[in-house]
Amino acid sequence: MTIEKTFIGKLQENWQVSDLLKTPGRINMLREGVVTLIGIKRLESEALFVSSEGSMALRETSKVNFAGRERYWWLARKFAGVLRRVLLAELRIEKCTVDKPCIDCEVCGLLGGLDPKKEGDNKAIQSRLKLQDLISVQEYEYDEKFRVRQPDDQNKENPTPFQEVIVPPGTCFPFIVRIIKPSKFDIGAFLYANQIADGLGYGNYSKLRGNATTNWVAIFNGFAHVSVYDVLSKGGELEKEMDAFAQTPKKPVTDILKGEELTNVINWANLKENWEK
Ligand SMILES: [Zn+2]
Repeated sequence: MTIEKTFIGKLQENWQVSDLLKTPGRINMLREGVVTLIGIKRLESEALFVSSEGSMALRETSKVNFAGRERYWWLARKFAGVLRRVLLAELRIEKCTVDKPCIDCEVCGLLGGLDPKKEGDNKAIQSRLKLQDLISVQEYEYDEKFRVRQPDDQNKENPTPFQEVIVPPGTCFPFIVRIIKPSKFDIGAFLYANQIADGLGYGNYSKLRGNATTNWVAIFNGFAHVSVYDVLSKGGELEKEMDAFAQTPKKPVTDILKGEELTNVINWANLKENWEK
C-alpha cells in the first residue's frame, strides 16, 4: 500500500521533540502547514459521558444547547485522553503517562503536555492535534435507566439503586480534526489510534463501553473552513452535509483525499510499521 502519490507521502517523516521545543508558543498554521480530517463518529454501544459525578442517585450524560437544540456533548478532551492512552500502549512508551506527560516522547510531540516540575523551555509542548468537541446530530433525550450498583464490599448487603441517562447506540457526531505542522508519523499515528480507541470505547464505565466507528469523509491539505456548528445548523442529513463540504473546499485547501485515495491512506495507517519509524 503506497501513499507516495498523495500529499501525505510528501510530508516530513516525523519530528523530533527537540525540534518542536525550539519553537515554543503558537505554531503558524499558514507557514507550517495543517491537515484537516472530517468524518462522522457513530456510537455502536451505549455510553455515559459525565463531566462530573453529581449526585449518587442520578448520573446524567453531558448535554449542550447548540445550533438550536439540546444535544449530547462529548468533550474533545475526553476523546484525547483515550487516544493518548492507546498511543502510549501501542508505541510501548513506559516513561510517559496520561496524568504525567514526559514532554520527551513522540506522543507528547503530537498531543502536547505540561510538566510543571521541569525547568526552562522544555517543560511544556503545544498539542498539534486540534479537536472540536463532539456534539450529536440527534436531540438529547432525558431517558432515565434504572440500574443497580452492587456494593464493592461483599459483606455489605444492600445494592444501591440509581438512575442514569445514557447516549444510545446510533448517535452520530460530526468529527473535525486538524493536525498542525503534520508529519507522516502524525497522520498515521492519529488514524491508527483513533481506530483502536473506537474499538475499546470511550464510556466512563466498562459496562457502558461506548464503542464507536469513524466514517472518514475527506482529508484536506490545508485549513478547511468547516465547523461542527456549520454542519449541525444546516439541519440536513449528516453524510450529505459533510460530503457537501468535501465537494467545495475553498482556499487555502490545496488537495483533497476522498474515495479510493482516502481508503488507501486509512489502510496505510492501519499498518503500524508504515509510520512508526
Ligand atoms: Zn511523553
